[in-house]
Amino acid sequence: MMSRSFWGWGADGSGVTPAEQTMLEARVAPLVGSELSWQQSPEIGQISLPATRATLPDSLAELLTATPTDRASHTYGKSFRDIVRGLAGDFSAAPDLVAYPATEADITRILDWASEVDAILVPYGGGSSVVGGVETPVEVRGDRPVISLDMSRLSGVLEVDRHSRAARIAAGTYGPALEAELRPLGLTLRHYPQSFEFSTLGGWLATRSGGHFATLHTHLDDFVESIRAITPTGEWESRRLPGSGAGPSPDRILLGSEGTLGVITEAWMRVQDRPHFRSSFVGRFTSFSGACNAARLLAQSGLWPQNCRVLDALEAFVNGFGDGSSHLLLVAFESAHLSVSHVSQAAVEIVRHAGGYVDSGAGQGGERPDRSRFEGNDRSTPADDAERWRDSFLRAPYLRDGLLRLGLISETFETAITWDRFDEFVEGVRAATIAALLAEGCGPTPILSCRLTHVYPDGAAPYFTVIAPGRPGVERLKQWQAVKDAAMDAIALLGGTVTHHHAVGRDHRRGYDQQAPATFIRGIRAMKKELDPTGMLNPGVLFNC
Ligand SMILES: Cc1cc2nc3c(=O)[nH]c(=O)nc-3n(C[C@H](O)[C@H](O)[C@H](O)COP(=O)(O)OP(=O)(O)OC[C@H]3O[C@@H](n4cnc5c(N)ncnc54)[C@H](O)[C@@H]3O)c2cc1C
Repeated sequence: MMSRSFWGWGADGSGVTPAEQTMLEARVAPLVGSELSWQQSPEIGQISLPATRATLPDSLAELLTATPTDRASHTYGKSFRDIVRGLAGDFSAAPDLVAYPATEADITRILDWASEVDAILVPYGGGSSVVGGVETPVEVRGDRPVISLDMSRLSGVLEVDRHSRAARIAAGTYGPALEAELRPLGLTLRHYPQSFEFSTLGGWLATRSGGHFATLHTHLDDFVESIRAITPTGEWESRRLPGSGAGPSPDRILLGSEGTLGVITEAWMRVQDRPHFRSSFVGRFTSFSGACNAARLLAQSGLWPQNCRVLDALEAFVNGFGDGSSHLLLVAFESAHLSVSHVSQAAVEIVRHAGGYVDSGAGQGGERPDRSRFEGNDRSTPADDAERWRDSFLRAPYLRDGLLRLGLISETFETAITWDRFDEFVEGVRAATIAALLAEGCGPTPILSCRLTHVYPDGAAPYFTVIAPGRPGVERLKQWQAVKDAAMDAIALLGGTVTHHHAVGRDHRRGYDQQAPATFIRGIRAMKKELDPTGMLNPGVLFNC
């Protein structure tokens, strides 16, 4: 298995490239109006970790480790705060032990031992959480030992039911491995969150991840046939069914449970035939609201494009798409069986009618393999705009770490809102975030850009990106917290969701507490007490035990 960076995104040594460094300096420095210099990445030999407070039991010695690299790399997820603390060599919240179970029986043994010693257990997929979902802060753990339960050895496509077109997949399978195993069978899950390279099926299920499809099947939920999990008090497995109206769905309860109710070990997932027909085009608009209105019309048209993403002009420029003079609507269709030219042409007409400029001849489509990096970086012909967007989308986490090494604040906030409140909502969140950035001294010209990641007939998911100069040291974290609080408060006040797909974790608890009905939280906490009586699983994530 490849060796992962213990503090940032990607494999060891795969960070931002020299060409990307030059691009970041050229594109971002003039925008934020600040002198930039590169901070060195930390070395594992230079960091100090708190002493381990748990003794390795002999009976589990082959499953547990306490090496500095294992403990450091399982301390945090990959949020702004996580990377900044990692860069500063602060690993004070390191778990005491890291467990690598290879079977469900191993998980049961670890859970039993954790219960005996009153340990905290944190299910760990790829560790790409951006909401504090895999960290146990010092104030939460108290005297209890913390064990990070890394699921990476429970990996692979275990069984394929070609007839029903479903696959049983182990929870610790990373995105690229999952697709690599399905590809020779002509199948695909087609779930591509931006964290695809370093996140797992179990993590996607536990957080109700949002992926490839910008319309219709936006979250992973729709592709779940059944889920299997191990809870501290027993197994949980739902029946494989194409649909069922039998009471509250056991799958829907585990989906989004964020490691608090049980450890997801595998799932039967609805897979698809690989697409062969593709068509894509770009609509250019003079206003962001014009581009969003066109996306609304497409979402309500019943054409269901796979990609339907709006980038405001700034977002497009920072990501290397154009000169920043147009707001872009990226549209793509795909199908395994039928040409998509006719739907693509219909979409071109809708976009033109809504005031967008589309190159003549665009959206013709045809039979074409996918050449984006999602599909293994096999590129014999130049990528089109949709593929270029997906490639740059995959590189973005590496660039984000680069921005943090430049001393900047770089954060994203995502939410969803119905169309009737959309314009007022986006303006309100923008205004509150910019005001907080200026009040925190992140000036003179902080970048705040917006894109729509997913669109629905009744609303959309706006995604805001902030890039701004920060003060050195812990001051940068204080500035970030103030800006994040202001953005979250504005989202709550204006009626949006605290998260469309980044999950709740610890960082979005305040918003989740406001959003979820109090009686529902009481009910789910009662269920947790039944399944996890010692409160070992991820205490403080989603709700208090
Ligand atoms: C750069 C970047 C881009 C991202 N883009 C997207 C995106 O496009 N769409 C999106 O939805 N999210 C995105 N995320 C957020 C994150 O990748 C998702 O939440 C993802 O689903 C987490 O998967 P993971 O395997 O890394 O889980 P982890 O981060 O390891 O864990 C996430 C949560 O799930 C729990 N968990 C993990 N595995 C299991 C299991 N087997 N059983 C029970 N609980 C478990 C953990 O305890 C934790 O609470 C992004 C994150 C980053 C850093």
